[in-house]
Amino acid sequence: MTGGVSSAIRIAPARIIQSEMPRRSFRIGRSFTGLGLFAVRAIKKHEKIAEYKGPRVTPEEALRLEHRGNRYLYEINPRVTIDGSPRGNIARYANHSCNPNTETYSYGGRVYIRALRRIKPDEEITYDYGNDYLKYIIGRSRCQCKRCRRRRARKRREARAAKRRRAMRLTRIRRRKR
Ligand SMILES: [Zn+2]
Repeated sequence: MTGGVSSAIRIAPARIIQSEMPRRSFRIGRSFTGLGLFAVRAIKKHEKIAEYKGPRVTPEEALRLEHRGNRYLYEINPRVTIDGSPRGNIARYANHSCNPNTETYSYGGRVYIRALRRIKPDEEITYDYGNDYLKYIIGRSRCQCKRCRRRRARKRREARAAKRRRAMRLTRIRRRKR
């Protein structure tokens, strides 16, 4: 029976560590456009998911980085911008969506991502990058978020249906003329 006792001892420390360090609620995974963040468990509405981490830079430095193609700049206020480009900033993997399930907010000079609604396991974690991003960086018509892809697919379907209806109308007219 000693085996049972030692295995119980082996299990105990792991449980303590787990309860002390809450498991991260997300992972990096393959998304439609490349990499993205995905929930590994259900996330409650308003739950804080991650911090958007990175060095703090001045507006001048932020502008310089922007011109060099840095897309991970988060302006907290007119004086401070976070450069979220370091790979250690896992929050940077969250993609843009026009119908997001999280939002960013700043508190005490730091930026966090929190759930706007309940998020199911394996659901992609997204937030709205804002109007400037859509207008100047990707172009509104090229957004690859689920909502925009669905909208464009629906428009293509409608256009095809309209074309079919036109073609049918034409064949009917031709038949009548015969
Ligand atoms: Zn979109």
